[in-house]
Amino acid sequence: MIYEIRKYGDPILKKKAELVTEFNSEIKEILDNMLETMYAANGVGLAANQVGILKQLITIDAGTKESPRPIKIVNPVIIEKSKEKTEYEEGCLSFPEITEKIVRPSIVKVKFYDQDGNEKIMEFTGLESIAIQHEIDHLNGILFINRMSPIKRIMLDKKLKEIKNSSKIKAK
Ligand code: ZN
Repeated sequence: MIYEIRKYGDPILKKKAELVTEFNSEIKEILDNMLETMYAANGVGLAANQVGILKQLITIDAGTKESPRPIKIVNPVIIEKSKEKTEYEEGCLSFPEITEKIVRPSIVKVKFYDQDGNEKIMEFTGLESIAIQHEIDHLNGILFINRMSPIKRIMLDKKLKEIKNSSKIKAK
């Protein structure tokens, strides 16, 4: 099932996602649907907030069409960051048509659970590292525009307002 992707302006994007405490078929189903939604939107990563679910769930795939590399992530915590940083032109499925250079640690070590509740520790490099950091930010209610310089954000103001106005804001 493909979920509706929430766009900038939807208050759920500013909320913190809750820890998953029970590993059941519902969690597996959400992760499957998130992957499907992410592929349909040609995204590299997706956080559950972006589809209106406040749970600490992420899907990423920084592979290629020929050799996909889907990873399903539950309750992630960054336990180590490299001092070395990388600048990358990031996009976000909640911000259509906006890309901007963001600086992040090049390599991160992340502790997380797989969909069956097994604890994993994995080192992420390259695009996978950028994607996991971007998505963990989402789970904490942090958006990539929060990591831009104030000047860049002002330059994007008009575009941001357009997204906000067209986004269907669900009344809370
Ligand atoms: Zn995003």
